[in-house]
Amino acid sequence: MKKYEYTASAAWLERAKKVLAAGISSEFRKYNHPHALFYTHGSGTKVYDVDGNEYLDFTLSQGPLILGHSHPEVLDAVKNASLKGQLFAGQHAMEIELAEKLQQIIPSAELIRFCLDGSEAVQTALRVARSKTGKSKFLRFEGHYHGWLDNVCYGISTPSPEAMGPRDSPAMHPWTQGLPEGAAEESFLLPWNDLDLVAKKLEEHHQEIAAIITEPVMCNNGCIPPKAGFLKGLRTLCSQYGVALIFDEVITGFRLGLGGAQALFGVTPDMAVFAKAIGSGYPISAIVGKRDWMEEIASARVIHAGTMNTGNPTVAAALATINILERDDPYPKMNALGERLRSGLRDIAKVSGQPMLVSGIGPVVHTGFTDLESAVDFRDVLLFDKAKLKTFVSRLHDRGLRIIGRGLWYISAVHTAEEIDQALELAEEVLTAQDR
Ligand code: PLP
Repeated sequence: MKKYEYTASAAWLERAKKVLAAGISSEFRKYNHPHALFYTHGSGTKVYDVDGNEYLDFTLSQGPLILGHSHPEVLDAVKNASLKGQLFAGQHAMEIELAEKLQQIIPSAELIRFCLDGSEAVQTALRVARSKTGKSKFLRFEGHYHGWLDNVCYGISTPSPEAMGPRDSPAMHPWTQGLPEGAAEESFLLPWNDLDLVAKKLEEHHQEIAAIITEPVMCNNGCIPPKAGFLKGLRTLCSQYGVALIFDEVITGFRLGLGGAQALFGVTPDMAVFAKAIGSGYPISAIVGKRDWMEEIASARVIHAGTMNTGNPTVAAALATINILERDDPYPKMNALGERLRSGLRDIAKVSGQPMLVSGIGPVVHTGFTDLESAVDFRDVLLFDKAKLKTFVSRLHDRGLRIIGRGLWYISAVHTAEEIDQALELAEEVLTAQDR
């Protein structure tokens, strides 16, 4: 077995620390194994680091690379567009083409605005909801990640499961220091998948609540699907109380199908935000919504702006990505590979005697260590054995298989059945050797 060493990355990290805060450019990169690593290139399902290590990549760079690394058609589109210019401080035709495409394939996409990433798309949707309803708060769910900006930095990290507080009024643990006074008061927080709690909160506070924002599948913690009727129930409650229903499809978008989770589950939100897979690694996101909500932006009652929005190469990347997804329809294959990985991992867990819970949906797979038979919310996920997961992820990594540290595996359109089987072989080797 090749020995994976990280000495070159370690040296780069030391140098980086002298110029980049903590040597990194996004907090999550700190959690690469065994420390922040430096990569040289990626191609298809493989990525390579400065030590010359090759990895079979199931991180897809935290999700965007739905077509794998360096897809040649996307690169061609980017190159051709770049040769014509980068930004015009004005509109260009490809944006219309891209927006028309979204309008055709995403149920809630009657009007669209593009920006750069998921975090700002979320904030724009919340601003629209406040403007249209005249109310100022929003309701969100424990363990759902909506970016790193002030008002959504609660309920995603917690000192311990015991510190979560009561289910109907969870503790608002901040993820970061430096939040402005009052940021916590902008939102109500609840455990996910509990419609009765949402109904009660809305009954008591609907006059303050402008929006409910949810990941339609809780992909940021455990990859937990919604309980039957939960999303539909949110839809009904939002319509009843004049509250915007916002789906955060930053992960589910273009991954669970061309129309996102909303098409898959047959529940149409008032607005939705897309990022990650829409652009194959180029910085683009979209706020899409029903016309009567997006009219807030169209009328300029809500201001949405950005110098860097819809750069020529970026839009070209998104258009190429969506055209390829539409032309090739990789979803049946991706879903089948997801199922192959899930069932293979479950078999291995059984044989090895490891308490591994395998969950997920379509091409998103999650592995957590717990005796629970299923997880329905963040409180369950907090009980998972983090040390066991770390050992599993690190040992896979040391054998050339890269998954996201929280136990998440993303399958791209270019992964093959052989690669899934190769991953299963490695997982078996690691799990069998791991302490029970
Ligand atoms: N929403 C969800 C569901 C996410 O997973 C993320 C990022 O992981 C975001 C929003 C924030 O997106 P970005 O990192 O592009 O700002």
